[in-house]
Amino acid sequence: MIVVFKKEATDKQINILIKRVKELGLKPMVSKGSERTIVGVIGPEDIVRLHPLDVFEGVDNVMPVLAPYKLVSREFKKQGSVISVNKNIKIGTKKIIVIAGPCSIETKKQLKEIAVKVKKSGASILRGGAFKPRTSPYAFQGLGEEGLKILKGVSEDTGLATVTEVMDTRDVHLVAKYADVFQVGARNMQNFSLLKEIGQTKKPVILKRGLSATIKELLMSAEYILSEGNFNVILCERGIRTFEDFTRNTLDVSAVPVIKMLSHLPVVVDPSHAAGKWGLVNPLSKAAVACGCDGLLVEVHSNPCRSLSDGSQQLLPENFTRLMKEIKKVAEAIGRDI
Ligand code: PEP
Ligand code: MN
Repeated sequence: MIVVFKKEATDKQINILIKRVKELGLKPMVSKGSERTIVGVIGPEDIVRLHPLDVFEGVDNVMPVLAPYKLVSREFKKQGSVISVNKNIKIGTKKIIVIAGPCSIETKKQLKEIAVKVKKSGASILRGGAFKPRTSPYAFQGLGEEGLKILKGVSEDTGLATVTEVMDTRDVHLVAKYADVFQVGARNMQNFSLLKEIGQTKKPVILKRGLSATIKELLMSAEYILSEGNFNVILCERGIRTFEDFTRNTLDVSAVPVIKMLSHLPVVVDPSHAAGKWGLVNPLSKAAVACGCDGLLVEVHSNPCRSLSDGSQQLLPENFTRLMKEIKKVAEAIGRDI
């Protein structure tokens, strides 16, 4: 159920309702919009039917949320959410945010060189994995905490915000110490313990769509994070498994407008892991921007042939510069900025 307050409702009226919701053994989730406050009431709907909430002062309307994902749904919040990474970077506005960097953090020199270049081309967030989800246990697994320290150091040197993957519940607080945004990778989209742990923090999180997950399953995973109190979720379409094997995955561009219709959360697109081939990253980025994404996540490496992971899909910095120039035109054509 959603309780929508009148514009003129006071904090006192809202707090009285919250207290009542808790007394009934239900969980109130408060969303304070610029216009009005909405309280999501999580728990069995028959309790609300037996104990009506629309009798409380200041309440405008009480509505059921029909979708199985409640807090994530457009029914819960009509306006698109804007997620603040820091005071300058917001995801979900007119400006499309570009996140770029190598697949893995390898050395300080490697990361710094790439960071300086992607910043110059217009990226505002640096990506780089310190904990790598590799198919083979014998492949490079990432530098762990040493990688996180490098990431933090490069962030301080360049002023770029950072995003990095967290794979294990035990590392959530460690990663939180070093990075501005968590990434939950495709393989962990349904690691519910991890989602709940991240939900206990307030840090923004990019939640990637699982390799074979439906949009509904992605939204249900996001619901796990929001239901723990962390509303700072950014969804990421990164390609799904289909019968096509020319590309690593198939970029589901339709996921962008579909998610926008079903949810208020911002959506970014990762064309690098979708394509698996660097030559496709530029056209797929244009398609993603044209479809209305709020950001892009692009892998860039100064020497892809020698990189320790995902060499074939990482763009050279000069190709990233070209991509930034070209997507700017697409963004402008649909009334967005880069
Ligand atoms: C990554 O971004 O480095 C990554 C491993 O992506 P995904 O989880 O989408 O495969
Ligand atoms: Mn990668």
